[in-house]
Amino acid sequence: MSARIIDGKAVAAALRARVAERVAALSFRPGLVVVLVGNNPASAVYVRSKDRAANATGITARTIRLPSETSEKALITQIGRLNADPTVDGILVQLPLPPLVAAQAVIEAVDPDKDVDGFHPLNVGRLATGHPGLVPCTPAGVMKLLAEANASLDGVRALVLGRSTIVGRPMAALLLAANATVTTAHTHTRDLAAECRRADVIVAAAGRPELVRGDWIAPGATVIDVGMNRLSDGRLVGDVAFAEAVEVAGTITPVPGGVGPMTIACLLENTVTAALRRRSGS
Ligand code: NAD
Repeated sequence: MSARIIDGKAVAAALRARVAERVAALSFRPGLVVVLVGNNPASAVYVRSKDRAANATGITARTIRLPSETSEKALITQIGRLNADPTVDGILVQLPLPPLVAAQAVIEAVDPDKDVDGFHPLNVGRLATGHPGLVPCTPAGVMKLLAEANASLDGVRALVLGRSTIVGRPMAALLLAANATVTTAHTHTRDLAAECRRADVIVAAAGRPELVRGDWIAPGATVIDVGMNRLSDGRLVGDVAFAEAVEVAGTITPVPGGVGPMTIACLLENTVTAALRRRSGS
C-alpha cells in the first residue's frame, strides 16, 4: 500500500493566502525586517524568498544587508534601532552569522515581541511552559502539516529525530503541548531504528540523507521529513528514504515540496501575529 503524500506546496500556498486575507483586512501593513550579515549564498537565496513572499502577502518587508566584518556590537545596535521602530513588527536575523559574532547574544538582543523566528529565550520558555508566544517557523509548519494529515496527536507516540534549538527541541515541545507522548532521539540514542518502529508519528530533522529506512517505520505511521540534504549528484533528499517509506507509512511528506515551503508561510503568519499582539498590547 502506498502512503498518502502531503503536498506542502499546496498547504503553504493556502496558508499564505489566509495570511494575505488577514493583512488585507488590517488598517496598516505589518512590517518585517530581515537582517543579513555577510554573503553566504544559501542565506542570500533564503532572504530573497522571504522578502518576496512577505511583500506578496501585503507585508512590508525589507532586508538590511551588512558586511561580513560587522561587529557584534554594531549588529546589536542595529537591532536596537529596529526594536525601537514602531513600523517594524517582525525582526529576523538570518543565521548562520559570521564566526566572530555570538549568535546567542544577537538572538537575545531582539525584542521578544518582534522575534518572528521564535528563538529568543523568552519565547523558548513560553513554548516550553505552554504559554502563548512566537513559535519557531519550521516546527510550526510541521504542526500544520500534521493537521493536514488529520494525524491524531492525543496520546500517540511521537518520535522527534534531532534536538537542535531551531527544529528538534521546539518540535518536541509543540507535540507535547498537543498531548503526544514524545521521545527525542539524537546522536547518542542507542537503537534509533527501534525508537522509530515504536512511533505513530515520526518527525525527522537530523540532516542525514535517507537515514530513516522503510523497515524502521511502523505500518500506517505518519512521517514528516524536515531534512534537506544536497547530494553530490545535486539531488535534494530528506532524512527519510522516501521510496521505501512511502510503501509503509500511512502519510508522508516529500522532499522537496513538504516541510520546506511551510517555513516561510509560517514566518508570514508569525509577522501578522506579532503585529496584532504588539498593537493590542497583549
Ligand atoms: P542540526 O545539525 O542543528 O541538528 C541535527 C540533530 O540531529 C542533532 O540534534 C543531532 O543530534 C541529530 N542527529 C544527527 N545525526 C543523527 C543520527 N545519525 N542519529 C540520530 N540523531 C542524529 O540540524 P537542524 O538545523 O535541526 O536541521 C535538521 C535538518 O532539517 C537539516 O537537513 C536542515 O537542512 C533541515 N531544515 C529544514 C528546514 C526547512 O525549512 N525545511 C528548516 C530548518 C532545517
